Amino acid sequence: MSVSVVLFTSDLRLHDNPVLSAAVREADRVVPLFVDDDGVRAAGFDAPNRRAFLADCLADLDAGLRERGGHLVVRSGDVVSEVCSVVTAVGAERVHVAGGVSRYAARREERLRTALDGIGCALSVHDAVVTVLPPGDVTPSGGDHYTVFTPYFRRWADARVRELAPTPRTVSLPRIAAGTLPRRAGDGVSPGVMEGGETAGRKRMRQWLSGGVAGYEDGHDDLAGDATSRLSPYLHFGALSATELVHLARREGSSGAEAFVRQLAWRDFHHQVLAARPKAAGEDYRARGDRWRSDRREVEAWRRGRTGYPLVDAAMRQLAHEGWMHNRGRMLVGSFLTKTLYTDWRIGARHFLELLVDGDLANNQLNWQWVAGTGTDTRPNRVLNPVVQGKRFDPQGAYVRRWVPELADVERKFIHEPWKMDESDRAALDYPEPIVDLAEGRARFEQARGA
Ligand code: FAD
Repeated sequence: MSVSVVLFTSDLRLHDNPVLSAAVREADRVVPLFVDDDGVRAAGFDAPNRRAFLADCLADLDAGLRERGGHLVVRSGDVVSEVCSVVTAVGAERVHVAGGVSRYAARREERLRTALDGIGCALSVHDAVVTVLPPGDVTPSGGDHYTVFTPYFRRWADARVRELAPTPRTVSLPRIAAGTLPRRAGDGVSPGVMEGGETAGRKRMRQWLSGGVAGYEDGHDDLAGDATSRLSPYLHFGALSATELVHLARREGSSGAEAFVRQLAWRDFHHQVLAARPKAAGEDYRARGDRWRSDRREVEAWRRGRTGYPLVDAAMRQLAHEGWMHNRGRMLVGSFLTKTLYTDWRIGARHFLELLVDGDLANNQLNWQWVAGTGTDTRPNRVLNPVVQGKRFDPQGAYVRRWVPELADVERKFIHEPWKMDESDRAALDYPEPIVDLAEGRARFEQARGA
């Protein structure tokens, strides 16, 4: 009787999971294993919102496996030691795992390979599980990765996407204790965090593909309309497969679906950058000689959504409340912090990672670098103006009113510029004066960059 172990990492799903499919196809018995990894905590990737979402994902995965005659096996500790101890306990011949792109994932794979080799067990690493195309699948001539999105996307759009992996009908385990599923704790969790898990993700995916996606091209920047998929947390944890989404969206065929697929390509793009340049998680991808300012009071105002710029504050409060923020908001608050306040992008990236339920090393760090102009943006010195952005993407002020209740009754013409109100009306609001003059901030940034 052959036994394999599936080590679940960023692929917490039963549908279109090539790791699980391969194991079930090849072995008589399979141990579906999740290790609550000390190393992930020590590396600072752990945060209450993501832990809550993760707990939902694991509970749902366990339920799905039980429907198929199995269950999830949960261990806690050092991932390599735990895998080896399970392998030894059940006499497994092979461990299957998804390939990752971070330095942590690469190191985990290397350590696993060595340790498993030492106990006579093979390791199979599966590509195109986390991303649609494996990093390194399309490369420019003379380079190991694409540094600009548009040429990457051209190649990406023409590349063959693998077929979907079959969902196992049954999963038979050898005799092994299940361990304890982590519980969804309440401490430090934002009140509006989405429900995690493959079941919730698939429901959202079906609703999105049969409704919202058609209007995505026109509506994706409408802050109040909230007309994006909100699938990012499910993709981050692998509760949904990006490959399956591409197949289904292409079948849907609208221009909205095409625009949506393009965003999934951005996800792959950032993953291939990080895989090729793991240091970009913490170091400037393209150094611009920045000598960042550091003003604690300003950073604190930014974090708390008290900058005096309504759109910035609305977005920061959405983040605090939901552990999620609209992409247009992310770009704006990122530009405000790194350009208008000229503050190091790492400070913003860290705050996002503390709260974002979709907080993802590749997407977060490289989007922050894109926004700060130290990354892959071909216009690194562009500065987004919160008033202009507000008038364009929140023309009625509905998004600001939703998240900044102090401004709920302000006239529309003042909603993005409350400082233009009469002194007496303004004094009645419990809302701060702007912490920075936009023109001064811009001039300071442009001078620093020599732009
Ligand atoms: P949709 O608009 O419905 O897009 C569909 C999917 O495409 C998303 O779920 C996501 O997986 C992918 N996608 C969309 N835009 C991008 C993008 N710019 N880069 C990479 N993938 C993209 N996304 C994360 O998943 N995790 C992060 O930690 C993260 N941090 C960000 C930080 C900053 C400063 C910025 C500007 C963007 C960040 N993004 C991040 C990208 C993007 O904002 C989110 O993916 C998107 O807002 C998620 O909402 P959605 O699922 O409704 O997206």
